[in-house]
Order: sequence, then structure tokens, then C-alpha cells
Amino acid sequence: MTLGVMGGGQLGRMFAHAAQQMGFFTAVLDPDNGSPAGRISHHHVHTSYTDPMGLQALVNVSHAITTEFENVPADSLAWLAQHRLVAPQASAVAIAQDRAAEKAHFVQCGVPCAPHAVIETPEQLAAVAGASSAPLGGSAVHAVTSVGANLLPGILKTARMGYDGKGQVRVRNAAELAAAWDQLQRVPCVLEKMLPLASECSVIVARGVDGTMVNLPVQRNLHRDGILAVTEVFEGNVPAELAGRAVNAAKSIAEGLGYVGVLCVEFFVLDPTHPDAQALGGLVVNEMAPRPHNSGHYSMDACDVSQFHLQVRTLAQLPLVQPRLHSPAIMLNLLGDIWPNEGRDGGVPAWDKVLALPGTHLHLYGKLQAKKGRKMGHLNITGASVEQVRSVALQAAAILGIAPF
Ligand code: ATP
Ligand code: MG
Repeated sequence: MTLGVMGGGQLGRMFAHAAQQMGFFTAVLDPDNGSPAGRISHHHVHTSYTDPMGLQALVNVSHAITTEFENVPADSLAWLAQHRLVAPQASAVAIAQDRAAEKAHFVQCGVPCAPHAVIETPEQLAAVAGASSAPLGGSAVHAVTSVGANLLPGILKTARMGYDGKGQVRVRNAAELAAAWDQLQRVPCVLEKMLPLASECSVIVARGVDGTMVNLPVQRNLHRDGILAVTEVFEGNVPAELAGRAVNAAKSIAEGLGYVGVLCVEFFVLDPTHPDAQALGGLVVNEMAPRPHNSGHYSMDACDVSQFHLQVRTLAQLPLVQPRLHSPAIMLNLLGDIWPNEGRDGGVPAWDKVLALPGTHLHLYGKLQAKKGRKMGHLNITGASVEQVRSVALQAAAILGIAPF
């Protein structure tokens, strides 16, 4: 069988590796000739994601099709689904592509999210800005949860196409909010209240065609400049009660979508001393990604079934078994920033020193040009104890010029 994937980035590459490990052929549709997944796949269709010829070519070689980035046009997935099993389905991807629809889904599933308002018109903007000094009223403000009307200070996020903190502006007052909306070209946005974060975590679930669901353990995540920097996974990384709630929330979000495939749900753990934290129950959902996620990369070396194996299993309709974390793990994201002079002189980070440390697993995505903020690879660290993993991870970070955590 050949498994197809829409998108040729690193997530598609690691999916293809997992599929190939189990004997599948793989096919990638990506316009870029040198895409990380295209380079290592049996078939590579070089067209845009909406090209009818390209989509037909993918159907011709694939038995089932998945996606590796969430901005793949939902219409293309819907067309592919007329011919092949497509997982995740277009309807779920369409919701994840739109922050407003995504938040409405969370609310519908009874999972608390940040107090927010949708801003699509100047009237809605004015209503939200006005509400920052007066109690909330009027129908122009949607879906604001019970914490209170004041969404400022907040973060204005474009409803569509945001990733790695792009398309987001932090605003303190009404004037900054108006300026931020101008800066974002007045596209549809969601204004979220700035929440007092104690930490961030995420949960990856996989759901099969038959409704079977399994999950990876809760991941504790550290972001820097809006980009994931470090993921830590071990027993007790997040208080057990919160972890249990996060897993249940992720499962009900997947269930509510009738989801098939791998889904990542990101959460904020709130500072328990802050009044908003109490009102929101200490844990709120941030967003979901309808695919494997950067915060699940540790599973490649620390779990007996990785998130990419789960993706293969859901797509090929193979049994899903609950993955087991067999080692504490830390993942360090390797951004282009750590290449000397962004790799222009052919220099590379000191891999030899890093690989001399016990329990280090280097994953590089085959990208030819290092750039600031570009995800070039990740380093997983496993070991016998949390202390050992942490100590090695900090040594590796120091060698690579990654700030300690
Ligand atoms: P991703 O690459 O995960 O898709 P993104 O661009 O969609 O990122 P978000 O996840 O919305 O961005 O936000 C990025 C980071 O900004 C969060 O991980 C968190 O650290 C911070 N952040 C976002 N929203 C809030 C909020 N309401 N209150 C406090 N911090 C926030
Ligand atoms: Mg995010």
C-alpha cells in the first residue's frame, strides 16, 4: 500500500519514515522540489495544493491520504475524500484553521478556553474596546466567557494562517488594539485576554475510524518568542489532577469532531494565585493542531509507539494501542539560530560534542538553508532518571547555545 500526505515539511517526512519502516510506500504532494518529505518519498507530486492534476496524481498512487500542515486547503481534502480515505477529514481541518470556529468547538465540548471576542468589523472592535472600561453588553461581542468583559491587556490573533506566534500582536489598551488591527490589515481576528500562565502543556490523541482512542502522556512545553523551545515528559511534569483533566479535554475535543487521525491539543496552566485562574478552573485550552505536533517529537525515542506511528496506524486502519513512555524525555528544538552564521559558511553546530552525551537522539529534517526561527531539527534526550535526562539536556543546550531552562 502507498500512503499519501498533503505537505512535504518535516512532519510529513517523519510520517513517511514511520510508514516506510512498516513497509508502506509513501507519496507526497508539495510544490517545493526540495521539500523534506518529498526528498525521501517514493512519489513526489510537485504541484500546488489546489491543482486538480496534482490532486488526481496523488489519488492515483495513494490508498489513503493524510495531511501534515493545517493550512492545507480544506476543499482539496474534501475532493480527495471522494476518492480515498482522508484522515483527518476536511471538516475537522477547517475548524482548526479558524481560531473563531476552533474556540466555538471548545466551548461546545465544555472545555474552558481564554475569554475572547471575534473581531471582524469596526463595530465589534469598538464594542470590545468600550467593554474594557464598561461592563460587557451588546451583541457585537461574541463568546466572551464568564471571567468578565475586560479583554485587555490581550493578544490580537488573526483568525486564520497563524503559526509560531506569527499573526499575533500583544495589546495593552484600546488605542493599541485599534493600531494592531490596522497592522494586521483588518482581517478577521480573535482578541484573547492575556492570561497569567504558570506553564503550558499539550496532549496528543489518536482516534481510529472505529472510534478507538489512545493518547500520549501530557507534554510540558516551554515557548520562546512564540515558538516551541523545549518539551519535557516524565511522570509528574504536570500535576496529576491537571494532567488527567487535559487528557479528558483532548479526548472530548477529538470525539466532538468525530476525528480520525492524530490530534494535538495545547493548554495553558494558569497561575493558581491569580483570580482569573480560579474562575477558569486552572486549565484552559489554547488551540488544536489536526496532525502530529512538534511537542510530540519526543515520542519517537521515548515511547514504544510514536505519534507518527499512530498516524500511520489511523490511516492504514491498523489497531491503536495505548503508547507507553519507557523513558523520561526532554526535546530541544533546533532552530536555524544555532547554526554559525546561519550555515552560510558551511559551519554546523557541534554535533560531535552533543552526540558524545549519553541518551541523545539527533533528528535533522534535511533542510539546506538554516534561517533564524526555522525549525531545522530536534534533539531528544532519554535516560534512566529525570535528573540524568535534565542534566544531559542542559549540557547539550549549553553546547548548542540554547538558553538554559
Ligand atoms: P503554534 O505554532 O503553536 O500554532 P500560534 O502562532 O498558533 O502557535 P498560539 O499558540 O496562539 O500561537 O500562541 C503562541 C504562544 O503565545 C503560546 O504558546 C503562549 O506562550 C502565548 N500566548 C498565546 N495566547 C496567550 C494568552 N491568551 N495569554 C497568555 N499567553 C498567550
Ligand atoms: Mg500554539
